[in-house]
Amino acid sequence: MPAKESQKICMDCKDADAILQTRHRHYCGACFKRFLSHKVAMRMSKFKQMKKSNGQAPKLLLPLSLGISSSVLLQIINDDIERQFAKTFVNVGFEVHVLVVDAQSGANDDVYDAVSKAFSRLSFTKLPLHSVFEYVSEMGKIIAEYANQKFVDQEQATNEDRLTAFRTAISSPTSRSDLDSVLLTRLVVEYAKSLNCETVIWGDSDTRLAAKTLASVAKGRGASLTWSVSDGMSPWGVNFDFPLRDLSKPELEQYLSVCEELSGLVVPDAHISEDVLTKNLSIDDLMMRYVRTQGEKYRGVMANVSRTANKLQSTIGSDDPSCPLCGGLVGNVKGNSGVTVANQSSDNYSAKFCYGCMRSRPESSIK
Ligand SMILES: [Zn+2]
Ligand SMILES: [Zn+2]
Repeated sequence: MPAKESQKICMDCKDADAILQTRHRHYCGACFKRFLSHKVAMRMSKFKQMKKSNGQAPKLLLPLSLGISSSVLLQIINDDIERQFAKTFVNVGFEVHVLVVDAQSGANDDVYDAVSKAFSRLSFTKLPLHSVFEYVSEMGKIIAEYANQKFVDQEQATNEDRLTAFRTAISSPTSRSDLDSVLLTRLVVEYAKSLNCETVIWGDSDTRLAAKTLASVAKGRGASLTWSVSDGMSPWGVNFDFPLRDLSKPELEQYLSVCEELSGLVVPDAHISEDVLTKNLSIDDLMMRYVRTQGEKYRGVMANVSRTANKLQSTIGSDDPSCPLCGGLVGNVKGNSGVTVANQSSDNYSAKFCYGCMRSRPESSIK
């Protein structure tokens, strides 16, 4: 029989039963949600101070994967907006647009419909990943050069077929997931620009940022850390910001467990069975698994990984040529990126792509 004293009281309100715990503190559901919301509000406060000279609030684009982290970010931001609207003098401070990129067509349509209905104050758009050919008009040309002779882009085919053909030409799961995220980023950026959003707010937890940092280095994409993991300017003139960087994935999962508003509105993480062979996992999945398991034991170490990456100085604006596909620097990289690789390739065209992209190229010989 469990001892009576195991029933703890919330350390914040000192009233309700504690049902969750993090950072050596025990919380009731409401206080736990308040603690996490406060961490996000601190990160979001800079936008409220940013009102332009014309009195317009800054426009932010929130890419929503419908997964746990970005959904919790959406919920916390929406809560804040609702609180503002309940006041006499409404001062939201920023304008948020939500973009859902559909990687598999139609897979989560019902969840998307429910979410856009539930957050009716915000504007929602859903785009298929293949619309990157539409929003980034030169993408067909970039991909044709990038893939060399191994793949021929059929411009007259539908965008969906073009993307499928390109992805099929890439053999390893790491390269496919690597290029998917490059295309996703490009689409998100162009969509943000089409709405005149100055900042994209990504829903990455600090767990995910640490995994991304380690995976980027492993994939030869260390040079892009200054914007793929750090707050600041991306190579395309739109800021990237990560308001969940003070929160871990397990904390966001605990938030979700006590958040009725999000019930039925989140697509659970795809479960990767322990039996899946390591070689069949992408480096991103492997790193996420590693950081999840080790992060629970060494939280400080993992937090330090993303915090350190966030201090890297941006090299954007330097004269070094940048990769037309991913925006990363090409060739010998100066500064603190940690990547000093001369781009050696058999054809002239591909010399303009960065080392990270060259590694993911269809049938690439660089492995
Ligand atoms: Zn409490
Ligand atoms: Zn590149």
